[in-house]
Amino acid sequence: MPVLDASAILNGFGFMIDHIAYTVPQVMSEFRDWRSKSLVSAAVHANHLRVYSPLQEHVKKVRDTAKRLGEQLSEADIHVLALALELKETIITDDQGIQNTAKSLGIQFKPVMFREARKRVLKKKCPNCSKQYSGDADWCETCDEKLVTLK
Ligand SMILES: [Zn+2]
Repeated sequence: MPVLDASAILNGFGFMIDHIAYTVPQVMSEFRDWRSKSLVSAAVHANHLRVYSPLQEHVKKVRDTAKRLGEQLSEADIHVLALALELKETIITDDQGIQNTAKSLGIQFKPVMFREARKRVLKKKCPNCSKQYSGDADWCETCDEKLVTLK
């Protein structure tokens, strides 16, 4: 069960249907627009996403390591790392700072864009700008329109 940062939750949402994942309260508060919020709260409600706070000793260890490495990490980043350290789980993130700090702490990580084999890939497009998306996306990132599935 991986630990997800904010970008992993939004971009990799599809893989959480099959897997339970973890995140931290600080990541949850990064979602400000109502669509992201409702997406994420639906995932929590469906028990696909579990929100935990890491222990203070792990937060401190991550903070000290990031400082030593000179990485500028947000509170959300630090807590994501601390939770992964605590649970001995993999972090899904594209953030270079998180990855560098994870490496130094012996935490495994994977980039957001990795994809596990899909049962089916639906092509979707935005009814407004016609931009095409894979089956994972639900909303056009440019127009915020709900995507329609191509036949
Ligand atoms: Zn669009």
